[in-house]
Amino acid sequence: MIETRRPAFIDGKPKQLLIDGQHVDALSGKTFQSFSASTGELVADLALAGAEDVDRAVRAARAAFEGPWSRFKPAERQAVLLRLADLVDAEFQDLALLDVIEMGRPITAAMGLRGMLQRSLRHFAGAATAIHGETLSNSFPVDLLSYTLKEPVGVVGAIIPWNGPLFSAAWKIGPVLATGCTIVLKPAEDASLSPLRFAELCLEAGVPPGVVNVVTGAGETGAALSAHPDVDKIAFTGSCETGQRIIAASAGSVKKVTMELGGKSPNIIFADADLDAATPAAAMGVFNNSGQVCAAGTRLFVERPVYEEMVQRIAAFAANLKIGPSLDPETVIGPLVSAKQFARVSSYLDLGPQEGARLVTGGHRVTGGALDQGHWVAPTIFADVTDEMRIAREEIFGPVSCILPFDSLDEVIGRANATRFGLAGGVWTRDIGKAMTAVKRIRAGSIWVNHYFAMDPSVPFGGYKMSGYGREGGAEHIDAYLQTKGVWIRT
Ligand code: ADP
Repeated sequence: MIETRRPAFIDGKPKQLLIDGQHVDALSGKTFQSFSASTGELVADLALAGAEDVDRAVRAARAAFEGPWSRFKPAERQAVLLRLADLVDAEFQDLALLDVIEMGRPITAAMGLRGMLQRSLRHFAGAATAIHGETLSNSFPVDLLSYTLKEPVGVVGAIIPWNGPLFSAAWKIGPVLATGCTIVLKPAEDASLSPLRFAELCLEAGVPPGVVNVVTGAGETGAALSAHPDVDKIAFTGSCETGQRIIAASAGSVKKVTMELGGKSPNIIFADADLDAATPAAAMGVFNNSGQVCAAGTRLFVERPVYEEMVQRIAAFAANLKIGPSLDPETVIGPLVSAKQFARVSSYLDLGPQEGARLVTGGHRVTGGALDQGHWVAPTIFADVTDEMRIAREEIFGPVSCILPFDSLDEVIGRANATRFGLAGGVWTRDIGKAMTAVKRIRAGSIWVNHYFAMDPSVPFGGYKMSGYGREGGAEHIDAYLQTKGVWIRT
C-alpha cells in the first residue's frame, strides 16, 4: 500500500530560508507561494531570497568551508553521508510525497525512485574516501618529487529545476559532502519543499551548520547566486537559455561551471528490432514524468518498413496510459507542473498540425472532475514529422513524441545529429554492428541500446554540444567538485 497522507513538512507554516543551520526569513520579508500542480491548492508560503540573502548564505558557506568542516576527515564525511542515506530512507515516503504534491509526479513513479536515491547517497559516501592525487615522474634537472593533491573547489552555488527536485538536490548535495565543499542550493520556485527538507536532514545527519544552505526564490535569486563573486563553482541543471545566462553571469569571477541542459534526443528503431520491447520503451522514453525530462527521446526515428506499424503500436500504448491525479497509485500521466508549462506545451500542440504533422493520438488537454484543477495533456504523437519542423527541433518538455521515418543507417545518424543538442540517444536493433556504429557516431552524452533511460550514480550522464558540459554520475561527477594542486618537493 502506498501511503498518501500529507507529509509532516506541509504544516501550513511559512517555509524559511536555511542559512548557517538556522531557519530565517528573507531580509526583505518578502515571500512567494507554491501551489500543487495536481490540485491547485496552496502548498506553502516560502521566503523569497533577495541578493542580500544570497550573500548571507554564501558568507555562511565560506565560513563553514574554512571552519570545522575543513577538518572533517574523509571517513567522517563518509559517515555523515551514510547517516544521511539512512535518514532519507526512513523518511522517503514523505520526501517523495512532497514532489508528488508540489510538482505533480505520479506517486507510483515517485516511490520508484527510492532505490536510485539510496544507491546515489551510498555511492557518494564511498567516493568520500576514494579521493586521491597522483605521484608523477618529471624530468627536471635536479631531484624533485612531483605529485598532485585533490582539494575541494570551495563554495558551490547549485541551481536546480522543478522536474526532479529530490533527485536533483541529492545529486548536487551528495558530491559536495563527499568532497568537503559547501553549498548554497537554489531550488526551482515550483518545487522547493523536498530540497528544503533534504537540507534539514543533512543537519540531522551531522553536517555542520553553513555547509548546506538553501535559498528559495525564482530566477532573480538564481541570478544573484550565479553572479556572486565569492561562489567558486556553479552546478546548474535546467534549460539551455537559463544556462547561457548563468554562464555569462559567472564570467565576472571566472567560476567553474557545470551545465546539464536540455535535449531533443533521437531514439532510433530499426526494422529488425524487438518491436514488442521497443514499443513501451519508446513511448515511456517520452511520456515518463509527462515528458518533463531532459533526456526524453522525443525524436523517434523508425525505419520505413515498420514505420506505420510502430506509429500505430506506440499510439495504442500511449492512448492506454492512465491519466489521473498524482496521488492515485494507478496514475501514469500526471499534470504538467504549471500554467506556464501548459501554455508552452499547448503552443506546440497547435503548431504540429500547422506545420503539416499528422496527429495520431492526444493533442489536447484532459479535463473533468479532479483534473480541472491542474493542467493535464494527453500523451501526444505526431507522425510524418520532418526534420525542419519546429516540433522536431525545439525542446517541448511535455508529453509529445515526434515520429519520423528513415531509410538507412547513414541517413538516420546524420539526421539524429542535426541538432544543437546532444544529451542522449537510443538505438533499437538486433544487429550488433549497426548498434555499435550508432553508438560511435551519435554525438550525445548517453546512448542506450535496446533500452531507454537507465541511470546510475556510477555512470556519467551529461551533454555534448548545447546540452551542456561536465558530467553527473561516475568519477567525473566527483572530480567536478575538486581541483588539482601540483606540488614539487626538492628531495
Ligand atoms: P524553466 O523555465 O522550465 O523553469 P529554467 O532553466 O529557467 O527552467 O529553471 C531552472 C532553474 O533556474 C530554476 O531554479 C530557476 O529559478 C532558475 N533560473 C531561472 N532564471 C535564472 C537566471 N537568470 N539565473 C539563474 N537561475 C535562474
